[in-house]
Amino acid sequence: MNYNKKTVKDVDVAGKKVLLRCDFNVPMAKDGSGVITDDKRIRAALPTLQYLLDQGAAVIACSHMGKPKGEVNPELSLKPVAVRLSELLGREVIMANDVVGEDAMAKAAALQPGQVLLLENTRFEKGETKNDPELAKALASMAELYVSDAFGAVHRAHASTAGVAEYLPAVSGFLIQKELEVIGGALANPKRPLVAILGGSKVSSKIGVINNLLEIADTVIIGGGMAYTFSAAQGGKIGDSLCEADWQDYANEMVAKAAQKGVKLLLPVDTVCGDKFAADAKTMTVNSGEIPDGWEGMDIGPKTVELYCSAVKDAGTVIWNGPMGVFEFPAFAKGTEAVAQALSNTDAITIIGGGDSAAAVQQLGYADKMTHISTGGGASLEFMEGKELPGVACLLDK
Ligand code: ADP
Ligand code: MG
Repeated sequence: MNYNKKTVKDVDVAGKKVLLRCDFNVPMAKDGSGVITDDKRIRAALPTLQYLLDQGAAVIACSHMGKPKGEVNPELSLKPVAVRLSELLGREVIMANDVVGEDAMAKAAALQPGQVLLLENTRFEKGETKNDPELAKALASMAELYVSDAFGAVHRAHASTAGVAEYLPAVSGFLIQKELEVIGGALANPKRPLVAILGGSKVSSKIGVINNLLEIADTVIIGGGMAYTFSAAQGGKIGDSLCEADWQDYANEMVAKAAQKGVKLLLPVDTVCGDKFAADAKTMTVNSGEIPDGWEGMDIGPKTVELYCSAVKDAGTVIWNGPMGVFEFPAFAKGTEAVAQALSNTDAITIIGGGDSAAAVQQLGYADKMTHISTGGGASLEFMEGKELPGVACLLDK
């Protein structure tokens, strides 16, 4: 895939109507009060939005929120986003009552340079997730240029994330530009040695990532719940640890692939176990493959921490996806924290992908020490799997 895509800076936007796909899929309070509990994604859209306005564009912003499944659902309306966006921008945000209906069309037609219109939740339209060309055409008809800045949605071929680019010149905003530069750069032409740290709960959700990074990386480090499937596959005793029996053969294949490719593959040598899956579990540290029944592996152990931290010390690039343990429980967050700290102390380009990994790094206080924390959980995973991202592929090449 070509990651070298045109950005808003490569086209003339002055006086143009611009359809800007944002990721305003923000968490809302569960009580239906319309309170946004975290506005990070709205803030993340500001640089591109502000740039377009400063250049004299009229901006028609759109996004999905939640899964209304093609029905209008007032609880998933973007109206609260318009209010918050207006506060952050310090200017009016006009809210449309529909996506491509009469109200949206009229407001888009009347929109002046420097003004912002927000369309309703794109998934109120049945055609959105089906990438219906009629919906894509209707969206495109409002504007003269399409700018995508919704990295969190680029792995989906939907009308507002990909389809619309069939009918308008399409470029990226600053958020996607950075994702492509940093992650795309690390995948296509990494500063070596490239170390990939892979963890999280399941092998099955990371098969593509492990497989692809074994093609690219110099060292692959395995931690988290998935490590126990590797251990079991090698005949280790894993007690009640997370294990995906169906994926043991795959784990062995990956070990063989690493050997064949000359990639250094590191597996945990010890593990911190708990007597139950709970914050107040009794803990015990044992060697890998020696977990007694009644205990489950919850974190990498201290010897593993040392091994993994020394493996990243001289790295040129580190890609990290998946926590090393159940970091949500403080007693089992040490492995994840030690790795985060090691990354913060290297001169390497450090890239964090995956929703829970990003949350872990944030929660543990290392977010501003990383080169890049991806804004898209699922999208960053598919990116690291080497899959083509429809919302990126549709943008104009440089
Ligand atoms: P990401 O969202 O970064 O891709 P995953 O969704 O794959 O990461 O995995 C994150 C989850 O994995 C966390 O909720 C964490 O508690 C869990 N996890 C990590 N290690 C273990 C383990 N040893 N046993 C059970 N769950 C684990
Ligand atoms: Mg996750």
